[in-house]
Amino acid sequence: MFTHKNELLLTPIEYLKGVGPLKGDMLRKELSIYTFGDMLHFYPFRYMDRSSFIKIKNIPEESTFVQIIGRITYSELIGTGRSKRLVANFKDETGTIELVWFQGIYWLEKMIANGGDFLVYGKATRFNGYWNITHPELEKIEGNAMEQFPLYQPVYSSTEKLRSKSLSGKFYVKLVQQLFLLLSEKNVVEILPLPILSHFQLMPKYMAIKNIHFPENSQQLTQAIYRLKFEELFIHQIGICKLKLNHQFIKGYVFTTVGDLFHTFFKQFLPFELTEDQKKVLREIRNDTQTGKQMNRLLQGDVGSGKTIVAVLCMLIALDNGFQTCLMAPTEILAWQHFEGISQLLKELPIQVAYLSGKTKAKQKRLLLEQLLNGEIHILIGTHSLIEDSVIFQNLGLSIIDEQHRFGVEQRSKLWKKNTLPPHILVMTATPIPRTLAMTSYGDLDVSVIAHLPPGRKPITTIHRSEIHRAKVMDFIRHELDLGRQAYIVYPLIEESEKLDFENLQAGYEQVKQFFPSHLYHIAMVHGKQTSADRESNMNSFVKGNAHIMVATTVIEVGVNVPNASVMLIESAERFGLSQLHQLRGRVGRGADQSYCILLTSEQLTLNGKERMHTMITESSGFAIAEKDLELRGPGEIDGTRQSGAADLKIADIIKDVALMETTRNAAIQLLQQDENLFKSENENLKLFLLSRKDKEVWSRIS
Ligand code: ADP
Ligand code: MG
Repeated sequence: MFTHKNELLLTPIEYLKGVGPLKGDMLRKELSIYTFGDMLHFYPFRYMDRSSFIKIKNIPEESTFVQIIGRITYSELIGTGRSKRLVANFKDETGTIELVWFQGIYWLEKMIANGGDFLVYGKATRFNGYWNITHPELEKIEGNAMEQFPLYQPVYSSTEKLRSKSLSGKFYVKLVQQLFLLLSEKNVVEILPLPILSHFQLMPKYMAIKNIHFPENSQQLTQAIYRLKFEELFIHQIGICKLKLNHQFIKGYVFTTVGDLFHTFFKQFLPFELTEDQKKVLREIRNDTQTGKQMNRLLQGDVGSGKTIVAVLCMLIALDNGFQTCLMAPTEILAWQHFEGISQLLKELPIQVAYLSGKTKAKQKRLLLEQLLNGEIHILIGTHSLIEDSVIFQNLGLSIIDEQHRFGVEQRSKLWKKNTLPPHILVMTATPIPRTLAMTSYGDLDVSVIAHLPPGRKPITTIHRSEIHRAKVMDFIRHELDLGRQAYIVYPLIEESEKLDFENLQAGYEQVKQFFPSHLYHIAMVHGKQTSADRESNMNSFVKGNAHIMVATTVIEVGVNVPNASVMLIESAERFGLSQLHQLRGRVGRGADQSYCILLTSEQLTLNGKERMHTMITESSGFAIAEKDLELRGPGEIDGTRQSGAADLKIADIIKDVALMETTRNAAIQLLQQDENLFKSENENLKLFLLSRKDKEVWSRIS
């Protein structure tokens, strides 16, 4: 097995002049720098810009980092023991500022003793009317040749421990300088192929590395950053794209015909005409299932865009070809709704639809499993109970997963193993996938999009109100109810404990009853603690229009469909994430009436909370909301990005650099199209680099 050999860069860090065993240990522990190469790839997080100096009288009021040139007119050692410190007066032609150091005093005193001009850098704070900098960086200016300073001095992130062990930022910079003395172009392997370098006009690797540490000027720095980000994202993307390519080697069942079931349903029972988007997606899926390869497709469509009917039509194609199919949903209620809705749609056809959840009784389950195995059941709908090992199909050909973001990649892959060949997989999500995630977490899937809602939907008016407006809000809801509409009132899951949630909901219910007396209004309550029978009957009374109000926890978040409901009141809306708020809002606006979403919050909101409310009021597109959500939450918290390796990026930012990611993805795809196994000599270094990395198995085919 090849490992990428570059003796110099593999040298343990303690052998660098000035490091030694003790400091080497610190660098390993604190910064994970083990080798020369690690130090080379530990980039500065900012630069001191030597071009911007300030006069003492111009230091802005709010405390800030400043760079001043002047002289030290007086210095004195004060205190003893831990509070021993060196205090100095630093003066330029406009004023005086006090400098204080607690560490490195011996060395500083020596430096100050000879006098002369100094450059000071640090955070200036006002203390008792005087400007003061604690622990400034101090540098001697020889003569008055300012040019001797590089315009940009690197600043590396450090730790308290390092600083206290005389491994100051300044000292670290010296070490990096030392490293560069040993280094030449030949030590830094150019792994990007020449055609890519020239096409994208990228700075050569060695030059980029040099400039990221010691930029010659701002233009060089910009180019160096661009080049290194490009490389990082390109390497990331080529891994994901290769994974996707490898996937195309996986055989899948061929659905040769579109048969009787599909045609009969389409002609006689389809409740509406399909939208262009729905037709397009259906064609894409149809194509996938004819290739002989396993389909692995993500169907993305905003809440209410009509994904279910697409799923049903795909199921019929599978049945027409003699296969069974299953549909898995993340919650019991959603799974049950699918079961009811789909059974209803298919009731005139000779198709057996069954339902399985964790709550299915043992006896019933035994029978169901038997019928599944002997092929009597054609469509199985349920919760994640479907992936249990005991669930064995006679001939599963297509698995559909609704609301993907609730299921992990692992759960998805369990469905693969339920037949000799892996069944086709269709994953449906209402959470629009931000561009970034489409290229990372979901980068190995093919994506279909339903971009437009079915005709006749009206935009929903979203309003933010706080607790003091509660009575007015209730008056408004009463007005809507009296017009014959219905309303949802949703409470957040506050605690992990079901009991507390229930109490919270119960309290809410009592409060709602005070506004809507029971002799005039019927209120249904739905929550996770009810038996499915109770929940179902309560839900049904709302669906059928018998109940005016549905009081619920987020169990209704996905899937429920009551076109007559025109108000969605979200209690403690600040406790919800953006995507969840958007999902909830999607429960209304399904009929012909003007609908409203009211976000009720407490008076005091965090900045983040305010921004979420504002986003909901101003944005209606699920896509924009998902982008904002990602921005507010940060990539670290997003499911799946970690596994995709995106969280390991050192210099690129998967959210801010999304455009560059797109560029590198296209470059990666193009390269793989021309030279999938990286046989060309121009791709040799890239291949060797990829093989030396962790993700070897992705590349096993090329070694
Ligand atoms: P989602 O994509 O959120 O799962 P659904 O499949 O539940 O959306 O569809 C939302 C509503 O839109 C349902 O009432 C469904 O019957 C209706 N619908 C779906 N497709 C169409 C269409 N082409 N024309 C009219 N109504 C449609
Ligand atoms: Mg749905």
